Amino acid sequence: MSANPTAAKATQTCDAVVVGAGVAGLAETYQLRKKGLKVQGIEAGSDVGGTWYWNRYPGCRFDSQTEIYQFWFSQELHDAWEGPRERFGAQPDNERWLQFAANFLDLKPNYKFDTRVESAHYDESTGRWLVTTDKGDKIDTQFFVSCTGMLSAPMTDLFKGQKTFKGQLLTTARWPREKVDLAGKKVGVVGVGATGIQVIQTIAPVVGSMEVFVLNPNYITPMRNPKYNDADRAEFKKRFAETQKQVNSTYAGFDYDFTNGKWHDQTPEERHKVYERLWADGSLSLWLAAYTEIFFFKEASEEISAFVRGKMQERLKSRPDLWETLIPSNHGFGIHRVPLESGYLEAFLQPNVTAVNCHKTGITEIVPEGVKTSDGKVHEFDVLILATGFDAGSGALTRMDIRGRDGRSLKEEWGKDIRTTLGLQVHGYPNLFTTGAPLAPAAALCNMTTCLQQQAGWIADTIGYMRDKGLKVIEPTKETEDAWVEHHDGISNSSLFAKSNSWYMGSNVPGKPRRLLSYPGGVHTYKKACEDIKESGYKGFALS
Ligand code: NAP
Repeated sequence: MSANPTAAKATQTCDAVVVGAGVAGLAETYQLRKKGLKVQGIEAGSDVGGTWYWNRYPGCRFDSQTEIYQFWFSQELHDAWEGPRERFGAQPDNERWLQFAANFLDLKPNYKFDTRVESAHYDESTGRWLVTTDKGDKIDTQFFVSCTGMLSAPMTDLFKGQKTFKGQLLTTARWPREKVDLAGKKVGVVGVGATGIQVIQTIAPVVGSMEVFVLNPNYITPMRNPKYNDADRAEFKKRFAETQKQVNSTYAGFDYDFTNGKWHDQTPEERHKVYERLWADGSLSLWLAAYTEIFFFKEASEEISAFVRGKMQERLKSRPDLWETLIPSNHGFGIHRVPLESGYLEAFLQPNVTAVNCHKTGITEIVPEGVKTSDGKVHEFDVLILATGFDAGSGALTRMDIRGRDGRSLKEEWGKDIRTTLGLQVHGYPNLFTTGAPLAPAAALCNMTTCLQQQAGWIADTIGYMRDKGLKVIEPTKETEDAWVEHHDGISNSSLFAKSNSWYMGSNVPGKPRRLLSYPGGVHTYKKACEDIKESGYKGFALS
Protein backbone atom coordinates (compact mmCIF):
# COMPACT_ATOMS: atom_id res chain seq x y z
CA MET A 1 0.00 0.00 0.00
CA SER A 2 1.45 3.41 -0.90
CA ALA A 3 1.67 6.21 1.64
CA ASN A 4 -1.16 8.75 1.61
CA PRO A 5 0.38 11.81 -0.15
CA THR A 6 -2.10 14.15 1.50
CA ALA A 7 -1.31 12.94 5.03
CA ALA A 8 0.07 15.76 7.18
CA LYS A 9 3.82 15.49 7.74
CA ALA A 10 5.09 15.37 11.31
CA THR A 11 6.85 18.50 12.53
CA GLN A 12 10.60 18.16 12.15
CA THR A 13 13.02 19.79 14.59
CA CYS A 14 16.43 21.28 13.85
CA ASP A 15 18.78 24.02 15.04
CA ALA A 16 18.93 26.08 11.87
CA VAL A 17 16.97 26.29 8.64
CA VAL A 18 19.12 27.70 5.84
CA VAL A 19 17.11 28.81 2.82
CA GLY A 20 19.03 28.62 -0.45
CA ALA A 21 21.82 26.48 -1.88
CA GLY A 22 23.76 29.16 -3.71
CA VAL A 23 27.07 30.76 -2.70
CA ALA A 24 25.79 32.03 0.68
CA GLY A 25 23.65 29.01 1.52
CA LEU A 26 26.43 26.51 0.91
CA ALA A 27 28.91 28.59 2.93
CA GLU A 28 26.41 28.97 5.78
CA THR A 29 25.33 25.33 5.89
CA TYR A 30 28.95 24.18 5.95
CA GLN A 31 29.95 26.53 8.75
CA LEU A 32 26.90 25.92 10.93
CA ARG A 33 27.21 22.16 10.51
CA LYS A 34 30.89 22.41 11.45
CA LYS A 35 29.82 24.10 14.69
CA GLY A 36 27.69 21.07 15.48
CA LEU A 37 24.28 22.44 14.53
CA LYS A 38 21.61 20.27 13.00
CA VAL A 39 21.00 22.17 9.76
CA GLN A 40 18.10 21.77 7.37
CA GLY A 41 18.72 23.42 4.02
CA ILE A 42 15.78 24.22 1.75
CA GLU A 43 16.17 25.02 -1.93
CA ALA A 44 13.50 25.78 -4.53
CA GLY A 45 15.70 24.54 -7.38
CA SER A 46 16.33 20.87 -8.08
CA ASP A 47 20.00 21.21 -7.23
CA VAL A 48 22.64 23.56 -5.79
CA GLY A 49 23.87 26.67 -7.60
CA GLY A 50 21.53 29.56 -6.74
CA THR A 51 22.09 32.30 -9.34
CA TRP A 52 24.10 29.87 -11.43
CA TYR A 53 21.34 27.28 -11.27
CA TRP A 54 18.52 29.61 -12.35
CA ASN A 55 20.28 31.93 -14.80
CA ARG A 56 21.30 29.75 -17.72
CA TYR A 57 20.41 32.12 -20.55
CA PRO A 58 22.70 32.41 -23.59
CA GLY A 59 25.91 34.27 -22.74
CA CYS A 60 25.45 34.17 -18.96
CA ARG A 61 28.78 34.68 -17.18
CA PHE A 62 30.50 36.53 -14.30
CA ASP A 63 31.48 40.17 -14.28
CA SER A 64 33.88 39.37 -11.39
CA GLN A 65 37.19 37.71 -12.17
CA THR A 66 36.92 33.97 -11.59
CA GLU A 67 39.98 33.85 -9.36
CA ILE A 68 38.29 36.14 -6.83
CA TYR A 69 34.79 34.67 -7.21
CA GLN A 70 35.83 31.78 -4.95
CA PHE A 71 35.12 30.24 -1.58
CA TRP A 72 37.63 31.47 0.98
CA PHE A 73 36.42 29.58 4.05
CA SER A 74 38.19 26.35 3.10
CA GLN A 75 41.67 26.26 1.59
CA GLU A 76 41.26 22.50 1.19
CA LEU A 77 38.30 23.11 -1.12
CA HIS A 78 40.18 25.83 -3.02
CA ASP A 79 43.15 23.52 -3.51
CA ALA A 80 40.98 20.60 -4.61
CA TRP A 81 39.05 22.57 -7.27
CA GLU A 82 40.66 22.49 -10.72
CA GLY A 83 40.66 26.31 -10.85
CA PRO A 84 39.40 28.84 -13.38
CA ARG A 85 39.56 28.33 -17.13
CA GLU A 86 39.12 31.96 -18.07
CA ARG A 87 39.06 35.38 -16.44
CA PHE A 88 35.27 35.76 -16.48
CA GLY A 89 33.69 32.33 -16.08
CA ALA A 90 30.66 31.22 -18.05
CA GLN A 91 27.53 29.89 -16.33
CA PRO A 92 28.21 26.18 -17.01
CA ASP A 93 31.64 26.44 -15.36
CA ASN A 94 30.27 28.46 -12.46
CA GLU A 95 27.54 25.92 -11.85
CA ARG A 96 30.08 23.09 -12.12
CA TRP A 97 32.26 24.80 -9.49
CA LEU A 98 29.32 25.06 -7.05
CA GLN A 99 28.44 21.42 -7.73
CA PHE A 100 32.02 20.50 -6.96
CA ALA A 101 32.00 22.50 -3.72
CA ALA A 102 28.70 20.99 -2.55
CA ASN A 103 29.91 17.46 -3.28
CA PHE A 104 33.41 18.02 -1.85
CA LEU A 105 31.92 19.35 1.39
CA ASP A 106 29.11 16.78 1.28
CA LEU A 107 26.41 19.44 1.64
CA LYS A 108 23.64 18.00 -0.54
CA PRO A 109 22.37 15.56 2.13
CA ASN A 110 21.55 18.61 4.26
CA TYR A 111 19.08 19.94 1.68
CA LYS A 112 15.49 19.40 0.63
CA PHE A 113 15.44 20.37 -3.07
CA ASP A 114 12.43 21.34 -5.22
CA THR A 115 11.02 22.84 -2.04
CA ARG A 116 10.02 26.44 -1.43
CA VAL A 117 9.59 28.05 1.98
CA GLU A 118 6.08 29.45 2.24
CA SER A 119 6.14 30.84 5.75
CA ALA A 120 8.32 31.32 8.80
CA HIS A 121 6.61 32.39 12.01
CA TYR A 122 8.40 33.25 15.25
CA ASP A 123 6.95 32.03 18.53
CA GLU A 124 7.98 34.34 21.34
CA SER A 125 7.00 31.83 24.01
CA THR A 126 9.57 29.28 22.80
CA GLY A 127 12.05 31.58 21.04
CA ARG A 128 11.79 29.37 17.95
CA TRP A 129 10.57 29.58 14.35
CA LEU A 130 8.03 27.37 12.63
CA VAL A 131 8.90 27.09 8.94
CA THR A 132 6.46 25.64 6.41
CA THR A 133 7.09 24.67 2.80
CA ASP A 134 5.06 24.10 -0.35
CA LYS A 135 5.72 20.38 0.10
CA GLY A 136 3.85 20.33 3.40
CA ASP A 137 6.95 20.33 5.62
CA LYS A 138 6.72 21.87 9.07
CA ILE A 139 10.08 22.57 10.65
CA ASP A 140 10.60 23.81 14.17
CA THR A 141 13.96 25.61 14.31
CA GLN A 142 15.91 27.90 16.60
CA PHE A 143 17.50 29.93 13.81
CA PHE A 144 16.02 30.93 10.45
CA VAL A 145 18.80 31.94 8.05
CA SER A 146 17.88 33.38 4.68
CA CYS A 147 20.46 32.86 1.95
CA THR A 148 17.95 33.52 -0.79
CA GLY A 149 20.11 35.81 -2.91
CA MET A 150 19.69 39.48 -3.62
CA LEU A 151 18.78 38.91 -7.27
CA SER A 152 16.54 35.88 -7.13
CA ALA A 153 12.99 37.25 -7.25
CA PRO A 154 12.52 37.96 -10.98
CA MET A 155 10.15 40.58 -12.32
CA THR A 156 8.21 38.27 -14.59
CA ASP A 157 4.63 39.52 -14.75
CA LEU A 158 5.23 43.00 -16.06
CA PHE A 159 3.03 43.40 -19.08
CA LYS A 160 -0.68 43.27 -19.74
CA GLY A 161 -1.58 40.35 -21.99
CA GLN A 162 1.63 38.41 -21.33
CA LYS A 163 -0.22 35.09 -21.17
CA THR A 164 -1.82 35.62 -24.58
CA PHE A 165 1.48 35.47 -26.49
CA LYS A 166 1.33 32.58 -28.98
CA GLY A 167 5.09 32.23 -29.43
CA GLN A 168 7.67 31.19 -26.84
CA LEU A 169 7.95 33.58 -23.89
CA LEU A 170 11.22 33.22 -21.98
CA THR A 171 12.40 34.87 -18.79
CA THR A 172 16.19 34.98 -18.45
CA ALA A 173 16.14 34.11 -14.73
CA ARG A 174 14.00 31.02 -15.42
CA TRP A 175 15.68 29.91 -18.63
CA PRO A 176 14.84 26.30 -19.54
CA ARG A 177 17.43 23.59 -19.00
CA GLU A 178 16.86 22.16 -22.47
CA LYS A 179 18.44 23.90 -25.46
CA VAL A 180 16.38 26.74 -26.93
CA ASP A 181 16.76 26.95 -30.69
CA LEU A 182 16.80 30.59 -31.80
CA ALA A 183 18.34 29.99 -35.22
CA GLY A 184 16.53 31.95 -37.87
CA LYS A 185 13.78 33.03 -35.45
CA LYS A 186 12.13 36.44 -35.08
CA VAL A 187 13.17 37.39 -31.55
CA GLY A 188 12.18 40.25 -29.27
CA VAL A 189 14.26 41.17 -26.22
CA VAL A 190 13.04 43.46 -23.44
CA GLY A 191 15.74 44.93 -21.20
CA VAL A 192 19.34 46.08 -21.57
CA GLY A 193 20.71 45.53 -18.06
CA ALA A 194 23.70 43.24 -17.47
CA THR A 195 21.51 40.27 -18.42
CA GLY A 196 19.91 41.68 -21.57
CA ILE A 197 23.30 42.82 -22.84
CA GLN A 198 24.78 39.32 -22.46
CA VAL A 199 21.78 37.77 -24.22
CA ILE A 200 21.74 40.28 -27.10
CA GLN A 201 25.45 40.03 -27.95
CA THR A 202 25.31 36.22 -27.77
CA ILE A 203 22.22 35.51 -29.85
CA ALA A 204 22.70 38.27 -32.46
CA PRO A 205 24.77 36.00 -34.77
CA VAL A 206 22.16 33.22 -34.84
CA VAL A 207 18.71 34.83 -34.82
CA GLY A 208 16.80 35.57 -38.01
CA SER A 209 16.00 39.03 -36.73
CA MET A 210 15.96 40.76 -33.34
CA GLU A 211 14.19 43.80 -31.97
CA VAL A 212 15.47 45.11 -28.65
CA PHE A 213 13.19 47.24 -26.47
CA VAL A 214 15.35 49.81 -24.73
CA LEU A 215 14.05 52.04 -21.96
CA ASN A 216 17.12 53.50 -20.23
CA PRO A 217 20.40 52.41 -21.83
CA ASN A 218 23.42 51.56 -19.70
CA TYR A 219 27.05 52.56 -19.77
CA ILE A 220 29.23 49.59 -20.63
CA THR A 221 32.86 48.59 -20.50
CA PRO A 222 34.36 45.95 -22.78
CA MET A 223 35.28 42.65 -21.17
CA ARG A 224 38.81 41.36 -21.67
CA ASN A 225 38.52 37.65 -21.08
CA PRO A 226 41.78 35.74 -21.59
CA LYS A 227 41.91 31.98 -21.04
CA TYR A 228 43.90 30.80 -18.04
CA ASN A 229 46.54 28.06 -18.25
CA ASP A 230 47.98 25.66 -15.67
CA ALA A 231 50.62 28.18 -14.60
CA ASP A 232 47.91 30.81 -13.94
CA ARG A 233 45.88 28.32 -11.92
CA ALA A 234 48.93 27.29 -9.88
CA GLU A 235 49.62 30.95 -9.15
CA PHE A 236 46.02 31.54 -7.97
CA LYS A 237 46.29 28.59 -5.62
CA LYS A 238 49.61 29.85 -4.26
CA ARG A 239 48.07 33.24 -3.56
CA PHE A 240 45.10 31.87 -1.57
CA ALA A 241 45.84 33.65 1.73
CA GLU A 242 46.90 36.88 0.02
CA THR A 243 43.79 37.09 -2.18
CA GLN A 244 41.50 36.10 0.69
CA LYS A 245 42.88 39.05 2.67
CA GLN A 246 42.88 41.43 -0.27
CA VAL A 247 39.25 40.97 -1.33
CA ASN A 248 38.12 41.63 2.22
CA SER A 249 40.00 44.88 2.49
CA THR A 250 38.90 46.80 -0.61
CA TYR A 251 35.91 49.05 -1.23
CA ALA A 252 33.96 46.57 -3.35
CA GLY A 253 35.36 43.16 -2.42
CA PHE A 254 37.47 42.91 -5.59
CA ASP A 255 41.25 42.63 -5.79
CA TYR A 256 41.47 46.18 -7.13
CA ASP A 257 40.64 49.37 -5.27
CA PHE A 258 40.57 53.15 -5.49
CA THR A 259 44.32 53.73 -5.48
CA ASN A 260 44.59 56.59 -7.98
CA GLY A 261 44.59 59.42 -5.48
CA LYS A 262 42.03 62.18 -5.15
CA TRP A 263 40.05 63.26 -8.20
CA HIS A 264 40.27 66.94 -7.29
CA ASP A 265 44.07 66.85 -6.90
CA GLN A 266 44.65 65.81 -10.50
CA THR A 267 44.47 67.45 -13.91
CA PRO A 268 41.93 66.25 -16.50
CA GLU A 269 44.86 64.84 -18.51
CA GLU A 270 46.11 62.81 -15.54
CA ARG A 271 42.63 61.49 -14.89
CA HIS A 272 42.12 60.55 -18.53
CA LYS A 273 45.25 58.43 -18.39
CA VAL A 274 43.68 56.56 -15.48
CA TYR A 275 40.39 56.12 -17.38
CA GLU A 276 42.20 54.80 -20.46
CA ARG A 277 44.27 52.37 -18.40
CA LEU A 278 41.24 50.99 -16.57
CA TRP A 279 39.12 50.88 -19.73
CA ALA A 280 41.84 48.74 -21.32
CA ASP A 281 41.89 46.45 -18.27
CA GLY A 282 38.54 45.11 -19.44
CA SER A 283 37.07 44.52 -15.98
CA LEU A 284 34.80 46.50 -13.66
CA SER A 285 37.85 48.44 -12.45
CA LEU A 286 36.93 51.61 -14.36
CA TRP A 287 33.81 51.67 -12.18
CA LEU A 288 35.13 50.34 -8.87
CA ALA A 289 38.77 51.45 -8.90
CA ALA A 290 38.99 54.83 -10.64
CA TYR A 291 37.86 57.56 -8.22
CA THR A 292 35.20 57.35 -5.49
CA GLU A 293 34.37 60.98 -6.28
CA ILE A 294 32.44 59.79 -9.37
CA PHE A 295 29.71 58.61 -6.98
CA PHE A 296 29.43 61.88 -5.10
CA PHE A 297 30.47 64.89 -7.21
CA LYS A 298 28.61 65.97 -10.32
CA GLU A 299 31.72 67.27 -12.10
CA ALA A 300 33.61 64.00 -11.49
CA SER A 301 30.61 62.01 -12.64
CA GLU A 302 30.19 64.11 -15.78
CA GLU A 303 33.84 63.75 -16.75
CA ILE A 304 33.99 59.95 -16.56
CA SER A 305 30.53 59.68 -18.15
CA ALA A 306 31.68 61.79 -21.11
CA PHE A 307 34.72 59.54 -21.44
CA VAL A 308 32.59 56.38 -21.66
CA ARG A 309 29.97 58.00 -23.88
CA GLY A 310 32.82 58.96 -26.26
CA LYS A 311 33.98 55.32 -26.39
CA MET A 312 30.43 54.15 -27.10
CA GLN A 313 29.89 56.80 -29.79
CA GLU A 314 33.13 55.78 -31.46
CA ARG A 315 31.92 52.19 -31.71
CA LEU A 316 28.61 53.39 -33.15
CA LYS A 317 30.16 56.07 -35.36
CA SER A 318 28.55 54.64 -38.50
CA ARG A 319 25.11 54.86 -36.83
CA PRO A 320 24.76 58.16 -34.93
CA ASP A 321 21.00 57.65 -35.19
CA LEU A 322 21.41 54.93 -32.52
CA TRP A 323 23.20 57.15 -29.98
CA GLU A 324 20.07 58.54 -28.37
CA THR A 325 18.63 55.05 -27.83
CA LEU A 326 21.77 53.14 -26.82
CA ILE A 327 23.98 55.65 -25.02
CA PRO A 328 22.91 56.91 -21.57
CA SER A 329 22.36 60.58 -20.92
CA ASN A 330 20.07 60.72 -17.86
CA HIS A 331 22.47 59.37 -15.22
CA GLY A 332 26.19 59.20 -14.55
CA PHE A 333 28.59 56.35 -15.20
CA GLY A 334 28.50 53.83 -12.33
CA ILE A 335 25.31 55.16 -10.78
CA HIS A 336 23.53 52.17 -12.28
CA ARG A 337 25.26 48.78 -12.44
CA VAL A 338 27.87 48.83 -15.23
CA PRO A 339 27.71 45.70 -17.41
CA LEU A 340 30.81 44.23 -19.04
CA GLU A 341 30.20 43.32 -22.65
CA SER A 342 31.73 41.76 -25.74
CA GLY A 343 30.35 43.11 -29.00
CA TYR A 344 27.04 44.33 -27.56
CA LEU A 345 26.97 47.63 -29.47
CA GLU A 346 28.18 45.99 -32.66
CA ALA A 347 25.12 43.69 -32.57
CA PHE A 348 23.04 46.76 -33.45
CA LEU A 349 25.15 47.35 -36.56
CA GLN A 350 23.76 44.12 -38.02
CA PRO A 351 21.02 44.86 -40.56
CA ASN A 352 18.65 42.37 -38.86
CA VAL A 353 18.91 43.95 -35.37
CA THR A 354 16.75 46.94 -34.40
CA ALA A 355 16.59 49.03 -31.23
CA VAL A 356 13.16 50.33 -30.20
CA ASN A 357 13.38 53.48 -28.10
CA CYS A 358 10.81 52.89 -25.34
CA HIS A 359 10.93 56.54 -24.28
CA LYS A 360 9.36 57.31 -27.65
CA THR A 361 7.28 54.19 -28.25
CA GLY A 362 6.93 52.24 -25.01
CA ILE A 363 5.48 48.75 -24.61
CA THR A 364 1.75 49.00 -23.92
CA GLU A 365 0.89 45.30 -23.90
CA ILE A 366 1.77 41.87 -25.15
CA VAL A 367 -0.59 40.49 -27.77
CA PRO A 368 -0.78 37.00 -29.31
CA GLU A 369 1.53 38.04 -32.18
CA GLY A 370 4.12 39.90 -30.13
CA VAL A 371 4.62 43.30 -28.52
CA LYS A 372 2.36 46.30 -29.01
CA THR A 373 3.95 49.73 -28.58
CA SER A 374 2.38 53.12 -27.84
CA ASP A 375 2.39 54.06 -31.55
CA GLY A 376 -0.08 51.19 -32.14
CA LYS A 377 2.50 49.05 -33.93
CA VAL A 378 2.53 45.30 -33.28
CA HIS A 379 6.08 43.86 -33.35
CA GLU A 380 5.68 40.21 -34.31
CA PHE A 381 7.91 37.54 -32.78
CA ASP A 382 8.42 33.79 -32.59
CA VAL A 383 10.27 34.18 -29.30
CA LEU A 384 10.05 36.97 -26.73
CA ILE A 385 12.79 37.21 -24.10
CA LEU A 386 12.21 39.16 -20.90
CA ALA A 387 15.46 40.35 -19.33
CA THR A 388 13.51 42.65 -17.04
CA GLY A 389 15.37 42.28 -13.76
CA PHE A 390 14.52 41.49 -10.17
CA ASP A 391 12.81 42.71 -7.02
CA ALA A 392 16.31 43.03 -5.61
CA GLY A 393 17.47 42.58 -2.04
CA SER A 394 14.08 42.46 -0.37
CA GLY A 395 12.00 40.50 -2.92
CA ALA A 396 13.08 36.99 -1.98
CA LEU A 397 12.34 37.73 1.68
CA THR A 398 8.98 39.42 1.18
CA ARG A 399 7.80 36.60 -1.11
CA MET A 400 7.87 34.37 2.00
CA ASP A 401 5.37 35.04 4.79
CA ILE A 402 7.87 35.95 7.53
CA ARG A 403 6.34 36.96 10.85
CA GLY A 404 8.32 38.10 13.85
CA ARG A 405 7.35 39.11 17.37
CA ASP A 406 3.62 39.84 17.87
CA GLY A 407 2.86 38.43 14.43
CA ARG A 408 4.40 41.42 12.65
CA SER A 409 4.85 40.82 8.94
CA LEU A 410 8.13 41.57 7.17
CA LYS A 411 6.27 42.04 3.90
CA GLU A 412 3.97 44.63 5.44
CA GLU A 413 6.76 46.45 7.29
CA TRP A 414 9.09 46.51 4.28
CA GLY A 415 6.16 47.59 2.12
CA LYS A 416 6.41 50.88 4.04
CA ASP A 417 10.11 51.13 4.89
CA ILE A 418 12.97 48.71 4.26
CA ARG A 419 15.18 48.63 7.38
CA THR A 420 17.79 46.17 8.61
CA THR A 421 20.68 46.06 11.04
CA LEU A 422 23.72 45.80 8.76
CA GLY A 423 21.64 43.64 6.42
CA LEU A 424 22.16 40.80 8.91
CA GLN A 425 19.19 41.01 11.25
CA VAL A 426 15.91 42.88 11.53
CA HIS A 427 14.57 44.39 14.75
CA GLY A 428 11.35 42.59 15.70
CA TYR A 429 12.49 39.29 14.15
CA PRO A 430 14.69 37.51 16.73
CA ASN A 431 16.96 34.72 15.47
CA LEU A 432 16.25 35.66 11.86
CA PHE A 433 19.53 36.14 9.98
CA THR A 434 19.83 37.41 6.42
CA THR A 435 22.51 37.49 3.73
CA GLY A 436 22.32 39.58 0.55
CA ALA A 437 19.62 41.69 2.19
CA PRO A 438 19.26 45.49 2.00
CA LEU A 439 21.62 47.91 3.75
CA ALA A 440 24.77 45.80 3.37
CA PRO A 441 27.32 45.92 0.53
CA ALA A 442 26.19 42.39 -0.38
CA ALA A 443 22.97 43.86 -1.74
CA ALA A 444 24.85 45.11 -4.81
CA LEU A 445 28.07 47.08 -4.42
CA CYS A 446 30.31 44.09 -3.94
CA ASN A 447 31.92 41.07 -5.51
CA MET A 448 29.22 38.72 -4.30
CA THR A 449 31.38 35.87 -2.99
CA THR A 450 33.38 38.25 -0.79
CA CYS A 451 30.34 39.82 0.83
CA LEU A 452 28.16 36.76 1.11
CA GLN A 453 30.90 34.74 2.79
CA GLN A 454 31.72 37.57 5.14
CA GLN A 455 28.05 37.66 6.18
CA ALA A 456 27.72 33.87 6.38
CA GLY A 457 30.84 33.81 8.58
CA TRP A 458 29.50 36.53 10.89
CA ILE A 459 26.23 34.65 11.32
CA ALA A 460 28.03 31.36 12.07
CA ASP A 461 30.33 33.11 14.57
CA THR A 462 27.34 34.78 16.24
CA ILE A 463 25.43 31.53 16.59
CA GLY A 464 28.63 29.87 17.86
CA TYR A 465 29.02 32.63 20.46
CA MET A 466 25.43 32.16 21.60
CA ARG A 467 25.86 28.42 22.00
CA ASP A 468 29.12 28.87 23.92
CA LYS A 469 27.39 31.26 26.31
CA GLY A 470 24.18 29.24 26.59
CA LEU A 471 22.16 32.03 24.96
CA LYS A 472 19.05 31.20 22.99
CA VAL A 473 17.79 34.40 21.36
CA ILE A 474 19.40 37.41 19.66
CA GLU A 475 17.76 40.52 18.27
CA PRO A 476 19.13 43.97 17.44
CA THR A 477 17.60 46.74 19.51
CA LYS A 478 15.53 49.40 17.79
CA GLU A 479 18.22 51.99 18.64
CA THR A 480 20.92 49.88 16.98
CA GLU A 481 18.86 49.44 13.85
CA ASP A 482 17.90 53.12 13.71
CA ALA A 483 21.56 54.10 14.05
CA TRP A 484 22.62 51.81 11.18
CA VAL A 485 19.80 53.04 8.93
CA GLU A 486 20.74 56.64 9.72
CA HIS A 487 24.43 55.97 8.99
CA HIS A 488 23.49 54.22 5.72
CA ASP A 489 21.13 57.00 4.65
CA GLY A 490 23.72 59.65 5.55
CA ILE A 491 26.18 58.26 2.98
CA SER A 492 23.54 57.20 0.44
CA ASN A 493 21.70 60.49 0.37
CA SER A 494 24.90 62.43 -0.24
CA SER A 495 25.65 60.21 -3.24
CA LEU A 496 24.44 60.42 -6.82
CA PHE A 497 22.89 56.94 -6.50
CA ALA A 498 20.04 58.51 -4.54
CA LYS A 499 19.34 61.00 -7.34
CA SER A 500 18.71 58.37 -10.00
CA ASN A 501 16.17 55.62 -10.72
CA SER A 502 17.33 52.02 -10.98
CA TRP A 503 16.96 48.75 -9.15
CA TYR A 504 19.67 50.05 -6.78
CA MET A 505 17.00 52.44 -5.42
CA GLY A 506 14.14 49.94 -5.72
CA SER A 507 12.51 52.09 -8.39
CA ASN A 508 12.02 49.18 -10.83
CA VAL A 509 9.36 47.68 -8.53
CA PRO A 510 6.07 49.60 -8.37
CA GLY A 511 5.40 50.83 -4.83
CA LYS A 512 8.75 49.69 -3.37
CA PRO A 513 9.96 52.14 -0.73
CA ARG A 514 12.85 54.21 -2.01
CA ARG A 515 16.23 53.63 -0.37
CA LEU A 516 19.66 52.68 -1.72
CA LEU A 517 19.59 48.91 -1.24
CA SER A 518 23.32 48.47 -0.96
CA TYR A 519 25.48 49.97 1.78
CA PRO A 520 27.78 52.44 -0.02
CA GLY A 521 30.41 52.87 2.70
CA GLY A 522 32.63 50.08 1.37
CA VAL A 523 33.23 46.44 2.19
CA HIS A 524 36.20 47.20 4.44
CA THR A 525 34.18 49.68 6.52
CA TYR A 526 31.22 47.35 6.71
CA LYS A 527 33.40 44.41 7.72
CA LYS A 528 34.93 46.45 10.52
CA ALA A 529 31.44 47.41 11.77
CA CYS A 530 30.51 43.71 11.87
CA GLU A 531 33.76 42.78 13.64
CA ASP A 532 33.25 45.57 16.19
CA ILE A 533 29.86 44.12 17.12
CA LYS A 534 31.40 40.73 17.81
CA GLU A 535 34.29 42.20 19.75
CA SER A 536 31.96 44.29 21.91
CA GLY A 537 30.07 41.15 22.95
CA TYR A 538 27.10 42.20 20.79
CA LYS A 539 26.56 45.64 22.22
CA GLY A 540 23.27 46.95 20.85
CA PHE A 541 21.77 43.48 20.57
CA ALA A 542 19.35 41.95 23.07
CA LEU A 543 20.57 38.48 24.04
CA SER A 544 18.75 36.08 26.33
P1 NAP B 1 18.15 45.07 -14.68
O1 NAP B 1 19.50 45.63 -14.64
O2 NAP B 1 17.16 45.51 -13.66
O3 NAP B 1 17.59 45.30 -16.13
C1 NAP B 1 16.23 45.16 -16.42
C2 NAP B 1 15.99 45.78 -17.77
O4 NAP B 1 14.61 45.68 -18.09
C3 NAP B 1 16.32 47.28 -17.78
O5 NAP B 1 16.94 47.60 -18.99
C4 NAP B 1 14.94 47.91 -17.66
O6 NAP B 1 14.87 49.21 -18.14
C5 NAP B 1 14.17 46.95 -18.52
N1 NAP B 1 12.74 47.11 -18.36
C6 NAP B 1 11.99 46.91 -17.25
N2 NAP B 1 10.71 47.21 -17.51
C7 NAP B 1 10.65 47.62 -18.80
C8 NAP B 1 9.62 48.08 -19.64
N3 NAP B 1 8.35 48.18 -19.20
N4 NAP B 1 9.90 48.42 -20.91
C9 NAP B 1 11.18 48.33 -21.37
N5 NAP B 1 12.21 47.90 -20.61
C10 NAP B 1 11.94 47.55 -19.34
O7 NAP B 1 18.17 43.46 -14.60
P2 NAP B 1 19.31 42.45 -15.07
O8 NAP B 1 19.84 42.83 -16.40
O9 NAP B 1 18.77 41.10 -14.91
O10 NAP B 1 20.47 42.68 -14.06
C11 NAP B 1 20.23 42.73 -12.68
C12 NAP B 1 21.54 42.61 -11.96
O11 NAP B 1 21.97 41.25 -11.99
C13 NAP B 1 22.68 43.36 -12.59
O12 NAP B 1 22.64 44.71 -12.33
C14 NAP B 1 23.86 42.65 -11.98
O13 NAP B 1 24.10 43.08 -10.68
C15 NAP B 1 23.37 41.21 -11.95
N6 NAP B 1 23.87 40.51 -13.14
C16 NAP B 1 25.20 40.23 -13.18
C17 NAP B 1 25.72 39.64 -14.28
C18 NAP B 1 27.18 39.37 -14.31
O14 NAP B 1 27.88 39.39 -13.36
N7 NAP B 1 27.68 39.17 -15.45
C19 NAP B 1 24.92 39.30 -15.36
C20 NAP B 1 23.57 39.58 -15.28
C21 NAP B 1 23.05 40.19 -14.17
P3 NAP B 1 15.13 50.45 -17.12
O15 NAP B 1 16.49 50.22 -16.55
O16 NAP B 1 15.04 51.63 -17.95
O17 NAP B 1 14.06 50.33 -16.07
